[in-house]
This record gives sequence, structure tokens and C-alpha cells, in this order.
Amino acid sequence: MRTTQLYAPTLRETPAEAEVISHQLMLRAGMIRKAAGGVYTYLPLAWRVLRKIEEIVREETDAAGGQELSMPIMQPSELWKESGRWEVYGEEMFRLHDRHGREFCLGPTHEEMITSLVRDEVRSYKQLPLMLYQIQNKYRDEIRPRFGLMRGREFIMKDLYSFDKDEEGMNISYKKMYDAYTNIFTRCGLQFRPVEADNGAIGGGHSHEFTVLADAGESEIAYCSSCDYAASNEKAELRVIKAPAEEMLPLEKTATPDCRTIEKVAEYLKISVEKTIKAVAFQNEKGEVVLAFVRGDHDVNEVKLQNAAGSIELRMADEQAILAVGGIPGFMSPIGLKKGTTVVVDATVMEMYNAVAGANEQDVHYRNVNPKRDFQDAIVTDIRLIQEGDPCPHCGQRVKMTRGIEAGQVFTLGTKYSEALHATFLDENGREKPLVMGCYGIGVSRTMAASIEQNNDEHGIIWPRAIAPYEVIVVPVNAKVAEQLSLAEEIYTSLKQAGIDVMLDDRKERAGVKFKDADLIGYPLRITVGPKSVEDNQIEVRVRRTGETLNYTKDVYLEKVIALLTKL
Ligand SMILES: [Zn+2]
Repeated sequence: MRTTQLYAPTLRETPAEAEVISHQLMLRAGMIRKAAGGVYTYLPLAWRVLRKIEEIVREETDAAGGQELSMPIMQPSELWKESGRWEVYGEEMFRLHDRHGREFCLGPTHEEMITSLVRDEVRSYKQLPLMLYQIQNKYRDEIRPRFGLMRGREFIMKDLYSFDKDEEGMNISYKKMYDAYTNIFTRCGLQFRPVEADNGAIGGGHSHEFTVLADAGESEIAYCSSCDYAASNEKAELRVIKAPAEEMLPLEKTATPDCRTIEKVAEYLKISVEKTIKAVAFQNEKGEVVLAFVRGDHDVNEVKLQNAAGSIELRMADEQAILAVGGIPGFMSPIGLKKGTTVVVDATVMEMYNAVAGANEQDVHYRNVNPKRDFQDAIVTDIRLIQEGDPCPHCGQRVKMTRGIEAGQVFTLGTKYSEALHATFLDENGREKPLVMGCYGIGVSRTMAASIEQNNDEHGIIWPRAIAPYEVIVVPVNAKVAEQLSLAEEIYTSLKQAGIDVMLDDRKERAGVKFKDADLIGYPLRITVGPKSVEDNQIEVRVRRTGETLNYTKDVYLEKVIALLTKL
């Protein structure tokens, strides 16, 4: 391909609407354009990246036993009513009617569709196991689509569904897909971790999220460098920390003027933060107050709290609501609240001795709070958010925290959908049984964005070679000089013949402009053809990721370039 023919309108300025790096760079590099909120056109460069990711997905999925098919994007409502999800899905589902008034949706996912397909065709255990997948657009009407391709309303996804005769078979399919995902993300050249995930509303056994590590990631993960433990911070289970036992002293009030934060209280009373108990007040969907208590240096994990309190959603409580249950904002404690108030205490707090907590009185705290003695009618469980340095739940070493982007997820579904949709088969003994399922997704367009989030610098994108739109760009410094252009053409042709995806920048632009564009688009290697190449037989090869410049003579540059590419 030649840049004079390439449709990649690059931008000099960073578009104001783009909040994250991948969105900014894809707009600037002429890879995507917005059609509507969360809906994008993929221009040729982006499309090539997507096709490369898809090809890796296909090769690894097929090797693991998957078979590709293509289901309709438009799905009849009847199937979703059978599974009970037509109502549950709510506003996130794009719904439409045909001319006869029949209801349809644009598929946000395909469990119903695939289960009904298999239900009608699979009769016997002999037809199992089965792994079917597709790569296509999915639709979700996000309230606030944002971050470019990271949270779009139309996006490309690979979704695979496994069908087995029993749980053992399902676990084998799960392991095959887990390994295939590991291969896929490795081949895409990404730094990632399979993270134990919350199975959430889907229910059933286990789940892993394949998280691409990047600072801009929406999910925070805890990982252990001594063992293979990694979990999303929402899911991470924590051990109870036991404070050294002390004699329980009598409760006493102490003045803490204007000490509204736990740090101020600790400073004022000259005690460590670990000796204090922090209160955080929420209100649930009904407006009822839910008070959470954790050790002063810990934070509340809202997902755990929500589960513990049996709430559907939680928001920070307003002052009126806190006052109504007998609490004083900034000075709250479980002691002396109105009866019936929901109080959830972290299990570690219950192991504290002679601690400091609020007294539900303005500018007053209690000393010598002994939760085992003083906290009554509280729900006690793990509601703490994991933090750097916490002991690993598997091996006890200290965990580290990092951020990431969820690019893939593997789930065991069990018989949730097969039971709802009556998808059964006859086992070896002629007994009718529901199919045992798993589902496995990869956000293909999101993987492209995640790759940019992980691989970029102030000049632009740095593609891993495997998914780069083109692997090499050949840039004649001055395309108006015939010798330079013809040498560049010659190099371009020989690289092409060697099977390398190569771009020739044949524009009659200044070299600086061409170098800037090459860095922005992120070709892994740039070959510069200048006066030295023509006169001294020196061909300059520059590695985008490191900025390293290498000079080769014309007789060896090709094998050197091929060798360099295998390492990128
Ligand atoms: Zn560990």
C-alpha cells in the first residue's frame, strides 16, 4: 500500500471529545470516525488491525475445537421471553418492531439464540461436546457510551458457547478455552492477566476475566507475584486480620473538635490509623441507610457491602438520612443508633481492641471501643476492599495492585439457559438431561483499543507487530529526488515479496511530516531512504518502540528486518 492511496485522514490536534488515549490516537491516526454516540466507522487502518486480531482468534479457537458460524444480529423477542431476559435486560437492549408489529432486538449477546439452535438439532450425547462461535457486531444501549471503542453501543465481539453432557465435560471445555485465550492474547503481543472474576448475575461456577494491563483500565486488579493469584478488586476475598489481644478497657467519650476524618482523629488523639474505626454511610434503592464500618486504613468494597446488605444498589447517604437514624456525619458509630438500622461491620474490625470510633455526637469520639463487646445487631462479614500489601489469599505473600481493561471473559453457565429453553439430550442410559453450557467472549474492537492503551507514547501508537495494520513503512526522505524514490520503491517491492505487510510513503511531503505520521500510526519499523542510502549504500531501520536506529547495507537489510520483526 502507498500513502498516496491510503484513506487515513490524520489530525494534528487532539479532538476535545476524546477522553482516553486510545480514542484520541485512533481519531488522530485516521483509524476511526464517529457516526453517533458509541457508534464508529472503522477506517482501513483500523479494519486491518481488527482483521488480524480476528484471524488470531479464529486460528486459536479452531485449534481448540471451535466451529465458526454466524447467527442473526436481529433476534425475535420470543426466545428472550422464554429465558425470562426480555424484561430483565431493560433499557440496555435495542428493541424494534417489524411491519407486522412483531418485536425484535439487536443482539446484545446470543445465549438464547444458540441454545434454541442446538436444542432443535442435538438429541444425543454422541453429538457432544460442541463448541460454536461467531465474530460479529453486538449492540448495547449504554447510558453513557464513552472512551471511544472501550464502551461503545455497537462493538465487535467473538462469542463462543460450549455444550457438554455433564459438568466434567464443561470443565474440560472451559480449560480448553482458557488456554486458547491465553494463546490469543499472547499472540496479540499484549501484557495481560487472567483474573478471577465475579460471576455476577450470570450465575454458575467459575469465571475469569482476561485483563489487558493498562493505567487507563476501568478495572482494578490485585495480583500476587509469588503465585498465580489474580482477582478483580471487587471479587478479591480477604483474610481477617487479628489485632494482638488486649484487656478490654471501659468505654469512654473523648472530645475531638472538628475531627471529621479518620486521619484528623488519629492525629488529634495521637494514635495510629489502624487503631480507629471508619464509618461510611450509604442508602439503598429504597432510601434506607446502610452503615458500613471498616478499620481506619481500609476502604469499603461496595460490591461486597451490597451483597452483605442484600441491596440492589447503593449510593452515598445524604445528611438528612444519617441524622434520621441517629447518626452524626463525621462522628458515626454503631453504638446508639436507632434500632433496626442496617449496620455492616468488616470482620477485621471485630478483631480490634480498645479502638477509637465515633460516638454519634458532634465533636465526640469513643475510646476503648471493643467491637466484640460493644457492637450489637451488626452483620459481620468481609466488606473490605483489597489494597496493595494485603496478604495473598492463596499463599500469604503481599499482593500488588494494577489497572486493566477487560478484553475477554470465560464463564461456566451450567444449565441456566438449557433448562429455561428446554435444551435437552439423551444420555448413555437414555435419560433426558439438560445440556451443560459455558460461554466465552472476546471484545475484538475493545482489544484493539486496549492494545493502544497499553502501547503508546507521546508521539502516537506503538503496535505489537502481530496486529499492526502494516509492519513496516518505507519513507524516502525526499520523494522528489528520483534516486531516493526508486530505491524506496525497490525496497518496498522486495519487502512485499518477502510476505511483509509494508507501506510506502510516496507523498511529496517534508520528511518531518512523514516521520510524524509514521510515529502516530505506529508502524513497528520504519525504513528511511535518504541521500546516504543512495550514495553510501546505507539503509536506516528505526524501531518504533525503542527509537533505536540501525544501519544496514543493501545486501543484508532484508534478512535483518525479518529477524527484527520476529522480536516485535
Ligand atoms: Zn500468592
